[in-house]
Amino acid sequence: SVFNNAVCDRLCPCLIMRLVFIDTEFRTLRLKAEDSSGRQHVVTVKLKPKHPLEAPVCTADLPVPLAMTWTAQSSLTHVHTQFLLLLESLAEFWAVLDEIDQKTWVLEPEKPSRADTMRRIVIGNNVSIKVEVNTRHPNMLPECCLLGADHVVTPLRNKLNSNMHLWNPECSVLQNLRDVLEIEFPSPATHEKSSFSVECGICYSYRLNSDIPDQVCNDSRCGQPFHQACLYEWLRGIPSSRQSFSIVFGECPYCSKPITVKCPPRNPEN
Ligand SMILES: [Zn+2]
Ligand SMILES: [Zn+2]
Repeated sequence: SVFNNAVCDRLCPCLIMRLVFIDTEFRTLRLKAEDSSGRQHVVTVKLKPKHPLEAPVCTADLPVPLAMTWTAQSSLTHVHTQFLLLLESLAEFWAVLDEIDQKTWVLEPEKPSRADTMRRIVIGNNVSIKVEVNTRHPNMLPECCLLGADHVVTPLRNKLNSNMHLWNPECSVLQNLRDVLEIEFPSPATHEKSSFSVECGICYSYRLNSDIPDQVCNDSRCGQPFHQACLYEWLRGIPSSRQSFSIVFGECPYCSKPITVKCPPRNPEN
């Protein structure tokens, strides 16, 4: 018989209900799981040739490694139970990110997965904050990086530094960011996203591979954004520009005020 009894025996009725995929060799299965907040997750289980003597290889869209304990007596129900426990331990982390995703405009990642810990949140035109949320202590002050022209970013950075002591781990990251930066974030309820996705002043597009135009002219009347790669190529092609190590110094293509750009990292897609 084609049917693998070893697998069949271990698929109790409650697991069959959670089965979303099984390959024809009964070697790869996908099981769905719902956490207590109603988020849907999937774990992929690859059975080894000597199953169940050998532990299966499990993978899922998670920000932490998926470590499973397995003995020869273990079953797939056991995998599912451990997966659910891990999901519950990440519930607070996902709650923090879900609030950001629902109430703000996120520029990066373009389509966040459950494994992504970073969000780049719109503050205003060509101003954003990049936060790296801690998986274990999600409401702690995250690593923050403000991006935009100096004259906008400097006052925000000063607020962040002087109000940091107000950070309250009992409140969400988004609420704390509002309090510490003393701002309201533009949200889908108040703003169109298109007003924040201003295209690059050189290639006239928004996305270049996965990059967004995040190099902003520091002149307060100009403030034109460019892709790092576009600005680098542009400045290098102008005889009056000069390069020192990985930084090119030149003039803004729009307002001719001084502008600098770092050599962009090599993009594997190119
Ligand atoms: Zn460009
Ligand atoms: Zn400019």
